Amino acid sequence: MSVERLSPLIYRVRETDLDGACREREWDAATAEHMVGRVIGRADRRLARGEEPGCLIDPATDATGRLVLRRQHFFFTGRGDEVRQQWRTWEMEPVARPTLSPRQAEDLRAVAGSRHWPGGDYSKPQVAGAVLQVNTIGTREEQRVDCSGFYSLPPAAWRRLVDKGWLWFPSGRVTVQEPVRVTVAGRVALALREHQTRTSAPVGYIKPADHPNREIARSGLIGPWRKGGRVYDGTSFVVCSAGCFQGRCLDSRNLAQAEARGHRAEVVLLALGASQEQAKRAGARARAGSSAAYA
Ligand SMILES: [Zn+2]
Repeated sequence: MSVERLSPLIYRVRETDLDGACREREWDAATAEHMVGRVIGRADRRLARGEEPGCLIDPATDATGRLVLRRQHFFFTGRGDEVRQQWRTWEMEPVARPTLSPRQAEDLRAVAGSRHWPGGDYSKPQVAGAVLQVNTIGTREEQRVDCSGFYSLPPAAWRRLVDKGWLWFPSGRVTVQEPVRVTVAGRVALALREHQTRTSAPVGYIKPADHPNREIARSGLIGPWRKGGRVYDGTSFVVCSAGCFQGRCLDSRNLAQAEARGHRAEVVLLALGASQEQAKRAGARARAGSSAAYA
């Protein structure tokens, strides 16, 4: 019996070399895993030694699920000891938009949280990931992805997730006991879904007595922005669907939006396995909107 093989394309990539030459590439799940893992691992090793990371990964600050990998190179210009730095970049555009249905999110979360005994060998330590199993129902065989906790994905569900580029078989082979894991694109989509951010419109010009903030309403205190009995309130709340901010408000909506951008970048980096320090740095770049600095 021949074994079905699966290695779907999950990212279209624009690679820009040091000389500025661009190439279009297509990455499957294994290539994306390797490249993202390499950049994150290298950056974390260097940060742990107290050095500059030299490699950066920046998630797009919108909901497109794009990632940009950057690797720094130094070279002599030929004029004395003058050194220049340049960045080689890979702009990764997911093949499928990262919009998960509630059911798809639940399925991906189940696979991500699953552990199994490799090859069904209970004497070995458990490893991360779900496994493919074949259930026989009457005369019919059904391939299901078995997760921890009696949760399993029926064939149509897991095949759709593989087609979308969110699940993959690291071996590429669709056979019994093969491990199944969430791809880079799947982890990004899940993080963006779990941390949907919103900012509130500022209150604007308002009489102190009408202010939604009771402190201000009670005191009737008008700040330095007094305008004919009205006070300008530019504060904007930033809210994350996962409850990360807990009623955080900033002085202006621009600042609140920057905070939301930074938060999304941080949670994507953490979902990809980066350290807190590396995630925090990506968050700071997203807040500052500094990606132009590498153009
Ligand atoms: Zn959050």
